[in-house]
Amino acid sequence: INILAIETSCDETAAAVVRNGREVRSNIISSQIELHKLYGGVVPEIASRKHIEKINQVIEEALSVAKITLEEIDAIGVTYGPGLVGALLVGVAEAKAISFATKKPLIGVHHIEGHVSANYIEHKQLKPPFLCLIVSGGHTHLVLVKDYGEYEIIGKTRDDAAGEAFDKVARAIGLGYPGGPKIDKLSKEGRSDAISFPRAHIEGSPYDFSFSGLKSAVLNYINSMEMKNEEINKADLAASFQEAVIDVLVTRTIMAANDYGMKQVAIAGGVAANSALKKVFSTACKEKGLEFYYPSPILCTDNAAMIGAAAYYEYIRGKRSGYDLNAIPNLKIGER
Ligand code: ATP
Ligand code: MG
Ligand code: FE
Repeated sequence: INILAIETSCDETAAAVVRNGREVRSNIISSQIELHKLYGGVVPEIASRKHIEKINQVIEEALSVAKITLEEIDAIGVTYGPGLVGALLVGVAEAKAISFATKKPLIGVHHIEGHVSANYIEHKQLKPPFLCLIVSGGHTHLVLVKDYGEYEIIGKTRDDAAGEAFDKVARAIGLGYPGGPKIDKLSKEGRSDAISFPRAHIEGSPYDFSFSGLKSAVLNYINSMEMKNEEINKADLAASFQEAVIDVLVTRTIMAANDYGMKQVAIAGGVAANSALKKVFSTACKEKGLEFYYPSPILCTDNAAMIGAAAYYEYIRGKRSGYDLNAIPNLKIGER
């Protein structure tokens, strides 16, 4: 089964051809980062317009790299939420048009289920059930993947997402957008025990997260240093902040794996590309006898290959979307 997958939920125009859910035949990503950088974040209106400009070219390239024609494609998978409504609509309209013209089935895919499914691509042995920590620009979810396409959320952030916290702290110390990769890199030159930042616990919700207090603590630290006219060691600050985020993510995930009897742990989403996070997770999982999985960095951030992987499992479960498929900006995980 060959699936043409399309992803336009945020600021990446992406298309891919994926065979049987796990074999990537092409994975084309046209990133708009350079454009949005000027504004310090994604500007929705610009994102939509750029998607329209790029989408056809990206799809053609995905087909040509995969050496496949539209006639040979078995289905079209597309992200229909969550994300920016105008951006999502470009991909959804395109997928509907291709589906209508070729009479191939259309499959709407949940963007976050795509992030989870990125793990299937490089780990052929990974099968549900497993525990997945989703850490992206807009989500921080701890999810039981009970079966393909079957999810139960057991924890989530009460405020900022992990990626959002990275981006905000990076902006506060002048590192620019997107901040995650920059903090990752700068942290390698700093001491993670230099500054002590808070770890938030939510009473009665052991698997939930909160990062707004941490973000405020970082901003307060910066202000107080400026008041005292003392120089901030940005590398130390980055490393200490990153350590605080990683600490709660890893501790809570390991606790949940233990409580729910999960032997396999996976991470997904842009922050899953973080090198220190992977290192700490891998040590902790080894210690507890858990198998640990993560996608390559290029499959962690937004891409269409992960949408093709998720679409395949929806396809074999019999899911088909109609031409009334619409963009749903706040689509919940597990919702159909
Ligand atoms: P969502 O998937 O929740 O809709 P999104 O698609 O914008 O949001 P992703 O593309 O999954 O998010 O991830 C982008 C986020 O990942 C950004 O916040 C970015 O800073 C962060 N990120 C990327 N690489 C790293 C890294 N190496 N370390 C930490 N954070 C990172
Ligand atoms: Mg992006
Ligand atoms: Fe994403």
